[in-house]
Amino acid sequence: MSHTLEFKAELKQLLHLITHSLYSHPEIFLRELISNASDAINKIKFDSLSKEELLENNKDWKIKIIPNKEAGTLTVSDNGVGMSRDEVVENLGTIAKSGTRAFVDMLKNQQAQNRPELIGQFGVGFYSSFMVADKVTVLSRPAGDPKNAVRWESDGQGQFTVESAEKSTRGTDVTLHLKTECKDYLEPFTLRSIVRKFSDFIEHPIVMDVEKEDENKNKTVTEETLNSRKAIWLRNKSEVTPEEYAEFYKLISHDDEPPAKVIHYTAEGAREFRVLLFVPAHKPMELEWGEPKSGLRLYIQRVLIMERCEQVLPMYLRFIRGVVDASDLPLNVSREILQQDPQLEVIRKNVVRNVLQGLEAMKNTEYEKYVTLYKGLGTILKEGTQDWANRDKVADLLLFESMKTPKGEYTTLAKYVESMPPDQNEIYYLIGESREEIEHSPYLESFRAKGIDVLLLTDPIDEFAIPNLGQYKGKHIRAVDRGDLDDKKEEKPEEDASFEPLLAFLKDKLPEVRDVRLSKRLTESASVLVADAGAVTAHFERLMQRFGRDAGDDAGKRVLELNPHHAAVVAMCDLFAKDANDPRIEDYGRLLYDQAVLAEGSKLKYPSAFAKRINDLLVKDAKG
Ligand code: ADP
Ligand code: MG
Repeated sequence: MSHTLEFKAELKQLLHLITHSLYSHPEIFLRELISNASDAINKIKFDSLSKEELLENNKDWKIKIIPNKEAGTLTVSDNGVGMSRDEVVENLGTIAKSGTRAFVDMLKNQQAQNRPELIGQFGVGFYSSFMVADKVTVLSRPAGDPKNAVRWESDGQGQFTVESAEKSTRGTDVTLHLKTECKDYLEPFTLRSIVRKFSDFIEHPIVMDVEKEDENKNKTVTEETLNSRKAIWLRNKSEVTPEEYAEFYKLISHDDEPPAKVIHYTAEGAREFRVLLFVPAHKPMELEWGEPKSGLRLYIQRVLIMERCEQVLPMYLRFIRGVVDASDLPLNVSREILQQDPQLEVIRKNVVRNVLQGLEAMKNTEYEKYVTLYKGLGTILKEGTQDWANRDKVADLLLFESMKTPKGEYTTLAKYVESMPPDQNEIYYLIGESREEIEHSPYLESFRAKGIDVLLLTDPIDEFAIPNLGQYKGKHIRAVDRGDLDDKKEEKPEEDASFEPLLAFLKDKLPEVRDVRLSKRLTESASVLVADAGAVTAHFERLMQRFGRDAGDDAGKRVLELNPHHAAVVAMCDLFAKDANDPRIEDYGRLLYDQAVLAEGSKLKYPSAFAKRINDLLVKDAKG
C-alpha cells in the first residue's frame, strides 16, 4: 500500500530553493549521492564488525552508477546499510541534521538566496538531486532484513510517497528521472569526469558498465572503475601533488579554497599511525554557526570509525580538518570502548604536538598567511590556553596589538619579553572594547611615561584566556587595571602621609568604592578606578552584563586611586586641611569618582547629578 506524506515545512522551503535557484554547479548532486552511498557502506562495514551475519556473505563493496538512456534515468546503487521504511521517512522527509538545519535557518535570513552554491558546502546532500531530476525514486532494503524493502518517490514539490517493495539485495538504489535539459548526465564521459573531479578518493570502487566495440564491431560490456580510490593519507608524501591534497581537502571540508597548510606524516614507534591534516586558509563556514565539532576523521585500517573525533583533536583545534588512520586500534569493539583506549591518548598527544608545531612554522615562515588565519580563528585558538600540557606552545601562537605596534600589526609574547627593559618583571595588558578606547585609558599613563609596553586586547575571550595563561617564560602576566603595580623598589613618598585623612574621609563618603588610595599609575589624570588583584575589571563586568549575567554583588566594587601630583587633588587636600567640614570636599570627591567611571568606559549611575556639579563649578568660575 502506498502512503502519501508531506515534507516538513522547512524542507519544502529548501526544495523550492534548490529547484528554482540558478545553481552554478548542478553536477555536485552526484558527489552527494556517492558520498551517501559511501557512508552507507562504511556504516554496514562498521556494524558488521560486531554482527557478521548482517553481511549476508556480500562483502564486495561497490557503488554502481547506472545510466539508462532509454528510460532517461540515472541510478546510483550501493550495497551499504540500507534503510527501513521508518528510516526512509525520517531521513528523506525531515531535516534532522544540524548542518542542514543551520542552512535552513540561514535561508530564513535570506543570505543564501544570493549564494545558492552554499548547498554543496552544507551537504544538503540528497535533496540536490532535485536540481537535475523532476522525480526521484529510492529503493532501499535494510541490512539483515530481506523482507522489508521500501520504495520512496517524490517530485520534490512538497509530497512524497512510500510503499513496500521487493529488493533482493541489501542497500539502496537512488534513481533520478532526469530533466530534459540534464540528459548529459547519462553520458559515460560526463559521469567519468564528474566522479574523478569530486569523488576520486572515495575508498570504495565506483563502477559503471561501459560498452566497448572491438575491430569487428562486436559490442562487449565491461565494468569500469571510475575512481582511483587510493586513500591519499596512505600514500607517500613525495608522491602526492598539491592539487591532489587540495582536492582531498575540498572533499572532506566542503571548502572552496585550497588549504593554507598540509601536515602529512606517519608516526612510527611502538604503534604506527598515519596522519593527514589541513590548516584552512580562512575560518571554515561551518564554524560560523551550529554546535562546535571536531574536524578529524578517525579510521582504523581504512574503515571510517568516527567522523568527528574529539578525543584525538581537541576542540580548540576544531578548524583543522583531516584524517588519522591507526592500524593497531581494535576494530571490532564499540565506539564507547574505543574511546577509552589508551592508545587514543598517545595519538592525541602526537597529533596536537604536530598541529601546534605546524602552526608555529606557519607563523615563522608564512607570516601573512598566518595573520589571515589568526584573524578568523584566533578566538578559537585562545581556548587552548586551557590545555595545560600545551599552554606554552599555544601562548607562542598568540598575536597581540600593543602600545608599541601600529594599529592592525602584532607582536608576540616572545617579542614582548625580548624587548622588556631589564628591570621590568611582568607582562602587562589591558582589555577593552576597541584599541581606540583603551589607548586613551588613564591606566596607561605611567606606562607611556616610562616607555613600558602594554598589550592591548579587544577580544571578549581575552578576559578568560589571558588569565588562564597566568605567566609566560616565568614572567607574570598582569592586567594594568588591576591591583597594585609592581613598583616595590620605589619608596613610599613622604608626602603620602599628608593625604591620609582626606583618603579616609572620601572612602567614608563614597560607598561605591572598596577603598581610596594614592595612585602610581597616573601622570595626567586626577583619578582612576582599579580592580583588586582577584576582583573583576570594568570590562569584564560589562561583558557579563552583555551576556545578561551579574558579575556578583560586591564584585564590581573597585578601588579609587587619586593622583597626588594632580593640581585638583592637591587643591582638595589643602582645602581639607583648612576645614575638614567644608561641604565642597564631598562634592569634589564625587566629581573625581565620576571622571574615573567615565574614563574606564562605564556609564554614570546619576548623570544629571554629575552635570549639576560641573555646572555649579562653572557658575562659580564664571562669576570669578
Ligand atoms: P547527510 O548525508 O549529510 O546526512 P543527506 O541529505 O545526503 O545528508 O542524506 C540524508 C540521510 O539520508 C543520510 O544521513 C542517511 O541517513 C540517509 N541516506 C541517504 N542516502 C542513503 C543511502 N544511499 N543509504 C543509506 N542511507 C542513506
Ligand atoms: Mg550526504
